[in-house]
Order: sequence, then structure tokens, then C-alpha cells
Amino acid sequence: MFDSAPLLRDVFGFDDFRPGQEEIVDAVTAGENVLAIMPTGGGKSLCFQLPALLRDGVTVVISPLIALMRDQVRGLQEAGVEAGALTSGNTPEETDAVWEALEAGRLKLLYMAPERLAAGSALGMLRRINVSLIAVDEAHCVSQWGHDFRPDYLRIGELRRALGVPLAAFTATADAETQDEIVEKLFDGTAPRKFLRGFDRPNIHLAFAAKDGPRKQILDFAAARKGQSGIVYCGTRNKTEVLAQALRAEGHVACHYHGGMEAEDRRIVETRFAREDGLIVVATVAFGMGIDKPDIRWVAHADLPKSIEAYYQEIGRAGRDGSPAETLTLFGPDDIRLRRSQIDEGLAPPERRMADHARLNTLLGLAEALVCRRQALLGYFGEQTEPCGKCDLCDNPPEVFDGTTPVRMALSAILRTEEWFGAGHLIDILQGVETDKIRARRHDALTTYGVGKDWSRPQWQAIFRQMMGHDLVRPDPERHGALRMTEAAKPILKGEATINLRKDTLRKAVRRPAVKM
Ligand code: ADP
Ligand code: ZN
Repeated sequence: MFDSAPLLRDVFGFDDFRPGQEEIVDAVTAGENVLAIMPTGGGKSLCFQLPALLRDGVTVVISPLIALMRDQVRGLQEAGVEAGALTSGNTPEETDAVWEALEAGRLKLLYMAPERLAAGSALGMLRRINVSLIAVDEAHCVSQWGHDFRPDYLRIGELRRALGVPLAAFTATADAETQDEIVEKLFDGTAPRKFLRGFDRPNIHLAFAAKDGPRKQILDFAAARKGQSGIVYCGTRNKTEVLAQALRAEGHVACHYHGGMEAEDRRIVETRFAREDGLIVVATVAFGMGIDKPDIRWVAHADLPKSIEAYYQEIGRAGRDGSPAETLTLFGPDDIRLRRSQIDEGLAPPERRMADHARLNTLLGLAEALVCRRQALLGYFGEQTEPCGKCDLCDNPPEVFDGTTPVRMALSAILRTEEWFGAGHLIDILQGVETDKIRARRHDALTTYGVGKDWSRPQWQAIFRQMMGHDLVRPDPERHGALRMTEAAKPILKGEATINLRKDTLRKAVRRPAVKM
């Protein structure tokens, strides 16, 4: 409805909305009264910060947590947004600066502790300035029966009436009594638009697989679902064309779709996909916005998506009708390298790059998860659940083994070669292979030379991939992708921590019997 994507990216640094955010942002921006219930960590603050930027005037944010307010104000200011807080923690200079910005009409967000509402002057002040929205964080604090009751929250309703502006209330507390109380006290009993949606999509089966002949993996997955509508997401335009061709050769009806195509050609694919049964679209992420076909039965990722948010959105296109739908996401070391270098070579400032690495890590953590995948996914969005019974890990719990020994061998090989080499050469060292490079650099004299003979080369590759997945090592683009150790690896190297690795990905990689698994 509003083009919030550029702001989302440029101000907040996110490529995609989290589940539920976009609908709430649209409603709040449109000036509706809103009550949104989202789990902690679900991303509530964006749901009033983004509308605040899209609306004229000032958004007043009431929050009981002073430290949190200060964090948010700092974050917004760093992103170039005029924001300020009036709290008991302010220095007089800070308060003066906030007033000045308010009087000059520059401020977009004014954070206030609820105690401020008790001071008579606040209402007069707020009446003078152009307030266009009230956002209430931790709205359950209005509940007299809850343990977080804040008497000053009872004044918020009064404030809303006096200013005559829309109000958006946010809380993570979902029980019906609290909701009723919020509606009564904050909205005078007139029902606001309510958003209460768990993030779970229980009809969607989740599965990840390490790339192991990826084209065949996708073709097998599609063959088992012949005649059903599906989407295959690919990392490159070229791959969409190649894979669509391969699917057609196997008797599927398949088209490719990417941003490099003529608008007209794209529209044809969109229309066919909406109308026809059993069409497969092989696409880049350009295929997404505005697809609301309810009966997409499967979504496959031929390459790792770029974030958990993107993953959730893309698989979320399947099974909108509520009937069972299946997903498969492939990932491999090349994906990890590619995503890392995209982040490192991007123009984003260093803090944002770090955040992007961290977000990629959580996606890799999901890919290498050892227990229920849905638990891991929803846990990331702040929702706690039981093991789901509808994911690959619940279907076949992965066997793990204590991988501390090979991981320590690998880390030691990295350190002894001063973090200047990639996995290929490191595996040569571990396996005691004689190559020119080894001889030239005297790596056959290292104590780690040949200590890893019990594992085959493909097994070592799987170990290195899992190490990347656990963010123990990262390729350094300034060293041609040489692997460097992260902080997380240190306790393992020092013998203070152990690490479990998945057995299956190693077993698949066996060429000769593994001795030590
Ligand atoms: P809540 O107030 O719901 O507990 P926050 O607003 O503090 O949650 O957000 C929790 C985390 O989620 C923050 O680290 C924030 O940067 C991150 N986040 C919010 N929205 C997005 C998004 N669209 N994409 C990626 N990360 C997001
Ligand atoms: Zn599960």
C-alpha cells in the first residue's frame, strides 16, 4: 500500500519484513487504531518507527523501559532519523536539545516515559506540537491485574482523547483478559484493528539438505510432486533458465522468471502461474511480490536464501490454502562464501555488515540445526513451541557425534598456517597429501601434517562446511577467501568447549570406511 521498502532498507537496514510486520506498518501508517500482539523479539519497534517516518508530524512513543528507549533513540539517530527522549535519565542539555528540535518541527519520534504524562505540562506541550500518532510499547502495563502494572499508563487514554490522534498499542502478552483491558483503557472500549498472528505455518513441512548433486536433488524433489504447482528459487538468473530447461526435459511444465526479463514476459509467467495448475516457476527472488496463489504445493531453494526473513517469506508462499505443502532448501559451502562476500563487498557501513553476518549465521544455524527446525525458526522470531513433527529433523532426528577432535585439528591447521589458506589446502595438510604447494611452504613439517587421515576428503569438506555453519571459521575476502578463526572457535581450540557435528552429512560423504565417527 505504501512504498515502505526503500525506508526499510535505507533507514533500518532490512531487506524484508519479518512475519506480520508489513500488515501492521500499513495499518498504522493509514491512521487506524491498532492493537498488535507479537512475541518478544518479533520486531515490534519497526511497526511504529517506520509509520512515524511515513506520517507527517511527530509520533509520541510511550515506553516504560528507559534503557530501551535510549537504545532506540540512539539507533534512530545513527540512521539519520530525528528522534529524542524525555525521561528522568536525561541530562538538562539533552532535554533542551529535544525541546529545540520539537519547537523547530524537526522531531519525528518523541519517546516519553509514562511518568511524564503525570506532569501537567506534558499535555499542554503535546497539544502545541503536531502529534500525528501515539505508539504504546508494552501496552499490557495498563492492566491492573498484571504484574507489570504502571498507574501512569492509565493516563494514555486521556492523552489520546485530548489529542484526537490514532493510537497503536504493542504487547507480547496475548491472553484475552489483558487484551480486553487494553481495549477498554487505551481505546475507550472501541475495538481497534487487532493483529494477533502466531508466526507458525503448521501445514508447511520444512526441510534442508546439504548440496550433493544439487540439480538432481531438485529434479528428484519435483519428480515426487509431478503435476503440482511449485516454485524453485535460484541464486542467479542464469540458473533459473538452466533449471527450467532441465525440468521441461523431465516432462514438467516449467518457466523461468527473473528481473532481467522484459516486463511483458514476466507478466505472462505471472498470469500463467496464477491460472494454470501444475506449473513450476524457476525464479530469482524477483518472483514474489504480489503472488497470492493459494494452492502452491511446494517451494524449493536451489541455493541458500539470503536471510531467515527471506527464507520465511519465500517458503511462506506455499500452502496459503492451509493444505499440506512441502519445502526443501539446499545449501553448500559456495552459498556461504557467496553470501559472505556479498556482505563484505557491499557498501553498507561496518556495523551493518556485522549485523548482516550475524543474520546469515542464524540462517546457517537453522540449516545445520540438530533439533526441530520449526522450533529453531520460530525461536528466532521469539516464539517458543514444542517439537513440531512436521520437519525433516523431527521425521529423522539427525545422529550427532562429538566432533571436537577433528574440529580442533582443523583449527590448529588454520592457526599454524597463520590463517592464510582455504579449505582445499588445509585438507591437504590434514590428510598429509604431498603437493607442490605443501612442499614449497614446508607445510609437511607442521605437527598437524597428516593427523587427519582417518577422515576422507569429502568428510573433511563436510566438517569444514559445518564449521562455517557454526561460524567457527569465516573466509576472509581480503585474503582470497582464506579461512580465519572466529571468537566462537576459541573455547573449542582451548579445550574449554566441545562441539557436536551431524553424522549423516559425513556418512554420505564416505568414500572409505570412517574409523572414528
Ligand atoms: P520486540 O520489541 O518485538 O521485542 P525489536 O523491535 O526489538 O523486538 O526487534 C527485535 C530484533 O529484530 C532487533 O534486533 C531488530 O533489529 C530485528 N528486526 C526487526 N525487524 C527486522 C526485519 N524486518 N528484518 C531483520 N531483523 C529485524
Ligand atoms: Zn520439527
